[in-house]
Amino acid sequence: MSGPVRSSIAPRTARRAEAFGRSPWTFIDQFMDLHPDLIYFGNGAPASELYPVERLRAAAETSWSDMSAATLDYGELKGYKPLRELIARRMADQGFAVAAEDLLVTFGSQQGIDIASRLFLDPGDLLLTEGPTYIGAMQAFDAYEPRYLQIPVDEEGMDLDLAEQMVAEAGQTPKMIYVIPNFQNPTGVTMSDARRDRLIALAEHWNAVILEDDPYGEFWYDNPPPHRLRQRSDRVIYLGTFSKTIAPGLRVGWMTLPHDLMGLALMAKESSEVNGVRDITRTVYAAADGFLDDHVQEARAFYASRRTAIVDALAEFMPEGVSWTHPGGGFFVWVTLPAGLTASALLPIAARHGVGFLPGRFFYPAADGEDTSLRLSFSVLSNERIREGIKRLGAAIAEAETA
Ligand code: PMP
Repeated sequence: MSGPVRSSIAPRTARRAEAFGRSPWTFIDQFMDLHPDLIYFGNGAPASELYPVERLRAAAETSWSDMSAATLDYGELKGYKPLRELIARRMADQGFAVAAEDLLVTFGSQQGIDIASRLFLDPGDLLLTEGPTYIGAMQAFDAYEPRYLQIPVDEEGMDLDLAEQMVAEAGQTPKMIYVIPNFQNPTGVTMSDARRDRLIALAEHWNAVILEDDPYGEFWYDNPPPHRLRQRSDRVIYLGTFSKTIAPGLRVGWMTLPHDLMGLALMAKESSEVNGVRDITRTVYAAADGFLDDHVQEARAFYASRRTAIVDALAEFMPEGVSWTHPGGGFFVWVTLPAGLTASALLPIAARHGVGFLPGRFFYPAADGEDTSLRLSFSVLSNERIREGIKRLGAAIAEAETA
């Protein structure tokens, strides 16, 4: 007899390993084959026709031709300096002064969420988020076993009267407040200027850190969003990313931290990654330099048309009793169903009509999250597909209501 002895070590995984089982896809996948031409509104990625593939290929060649033995050594943990300077310059253009020294290049904003959690969250710490919030962020938070407090969102963002009340009832002050103030995932809602100031004041009062996740801030279609939270207070950890403006597969984003946290953040990053990557950060720099501002402007017009297509189609095809958000930017619309109908019950019916979406309950940390709403992403579908998909959704809701 030869070969390894088989044994199962699954029973010995850490308690936190269970958290990695959170995923909507197994639920969604069972309905995807119910129609030969399903229009799927669940994909929140950017439109791949906007990925500047040729420019990135040329940029990769430039970056490799400049690579030397010294460049390929350990180090550069904060990230390629010209890239940090480019980020700082672009943020300054948006009225946002930050020194390149205070920027840390990350593997997308996702790594920033993880680093911030590692620095701030002990098991049982109170974590305030919007309710609903971004699924990927919860995947990162879950491993640190926080106690979630989800604050409902209205058209001005997180409801701060409720936040104060819920924190008082929780009997514990929050350690961290995670917010997506601009064109939020999943609701598309933007936090108002007044709420931003008040949130900072509350964070001061609670001595909490704010984690500001801003992947969509540059994609405004009507007006630029109010000043970032990070522009108002240095109690804020700010996350940016090239995932939406260039391409998500590159895995390049950045974070700015309160100055005295940079050393710890670098060590947290080093403990899992050892040092920054060389070729991709140089490639992103070479591709973005002299290109990205115009590219973002074009992308804005491109997505604005899809946003208009979806809100127009909703107005045309939604039955009585359905409501939805009116995003001024980003990729998402949040649709609330008539009373008595859940998004999970609607999904199989919708899939038979040829339309799919993500049910609302996946955007809440509790397994039994509210399911009266659903998220529609309009970023990857053409205007024609959007209109047809919303028409099918209207028919599915009408059928579900009479069932
Ligand atoms: N935060 C939010 C709110 C997002 O919607 C996304 C992407 N879906 C991310 C973070 C992750 O972005 P990245 O690719 O930069 O990790």
